[in-house]
Amino acid sequence: MAVDLHLHSTYSDGSTAPAEIVRRAAAIGLSGIALTDHDTLEGIVEAATAAATHGIGFISGTELSVEWKNQSMHMLAYFLEPGAGPLQNRMKELRASRDMRNIEIAAKLQDQGLDVTMDEVRDEAGQGVVGRPHFAGVMIEKGYVENVPEAFDRYLAAGRPAYAPRVRLPVDEAIDLATRSGALCSIAHPHTLNLRADEFSTGFRELISYGLAGIEAYYGEYTPMLRDRIAEICDELGIVATGGSDYHGKYKPQLSIGTGKGDLRVPDQSFEALQQRRSATQRI
Ligand code: AMP
Ligand code: ZN
Ligand code: FE
Ligand code: FE
Repeated sequence: MAVDLHLHSTYSDGSTAPAEIVRRAAAIGLSGIALTDHDTLEGIVEAATAAATHGIGFISGTELSVEWKNQSMHMLAYFLEPGAGPLQNRMKELRASRDMRNIEIAAKLQDQGLDVTMDEVRDEAGQGVVGRPHFAGVMIEKGYVENVPEAFDRYLAAGRPAYAPRVRLPVDEAIDLATRSGALCSIAHPHTLNLRADEFSTGFRELISYGLAGIEAYYGEYTPMLRDRIAEICDELGIVATGGSDYHGKYKPQLSIGTGKGDLRVPDQSFEALQQRRSATQRI
């Protein structure tokens, strides 16, 4: 059996509703999932309810952008529950910073001669936290670009003309807030970090000293051999090898639930090890 611990729904920049994600995950035989929408826990109750109905395991989650070594890093926070809490409260501020950033992006697109308004982008996002993929959606709709990667490459990515930064939590503060909120953190897609091979292990040790609980070893961008190698490193470091597809529905049409680009398989062990670690921390 396999699991998928990195999924985005209509509550952020995915295009599939949480209940439908769960239904499809169960249909392809996954034994457990985690919903990890950016900066929000809005989809958690819907997903948890659906998971109970379909009889598959569920872990709540979110994906945060944090700052480490002057770079942006994505961090998955698992077992974070909707409601109040140190991290949950701070996430409200992160969403507010996103809203300000989005207004800047819209203005910059206008400067570039692209008629993209915040109303259109909010419409595209529906109930979801607005992100750059929604801008890309409107840009495609209006014929300015062909697809999401082109929207990023030409306008939305860092260093491109319509890029605008948003507030990122320093990684140590983010892990501390998460820990005090009962969550366990795993670094998402660590290959996107600009680190030399010899910097990874000291880097991971630094993050573990802040309370890091895992690294996303099973990710579609790695060869199966590298996934296993990262999982071994996790074992050596005493942390959990997590994994998932980073499914976003139509915004990343090449990725499927559970299997990513087709060859991904995240072992049950990832789900179980996270749960064991969670029970162990609760006993302390
Ligand atoms: P935001 O959270 O609004 O800054 O948007 C970031 C999201 O955009 C990421 O989580 C990805 O889903 C997506 N994204 C980032 N870079 C790219 C890219 N080069 N091509 C396609 N999607 C991207
Ligand atoms: Zn995303
Ligand atoms: Fe990410
Ligand atoms: Fe993601």
